[in-house]
Amino acid sequence: MPIHNGPMLRLTRAPDLTTATLWVDALNTEGISASVQRQYLSGVAGELPPDQCTPEVWIAHPEQEARARTLLHHLQHVPQRQWWCRCGEFVEGGFEQCWRCGAWMPG
Ligand SMILES: [Zn+2]
Repeated sequence: MPIHNGPMLRLTRAPDLTTATLWVDALNTEGISASVQRQYLSGVAGELPPDQCTPEVWIAHPEQEARARTLLHHLQHVPQRQWWCRCGEFVEGGFEQCWRCGAWMPG
């Protein structure tokens, strides 16, 4: 990843590093230059395991903030779980609607 020296913008704070990485990957896929910045709770970097920090998602180009927030909103509201539809279909891949009968994922 190229080093960017311009002003960066903190987009959001992620619940964990896995989620932060997922969001950054999605943003980069959409052409938004993003990266994970780890904010250590104690302020002592390197002495805590990676899951003890609060990862933040930053974007390199503040003018892309609106697009980035829209994408992030979708990422945060699309459940990544699998579910059984009442029609008997097993729906996976984060879809909220059954591709077979059109029913929505239960509550
Ligand atoms: Zn169904």
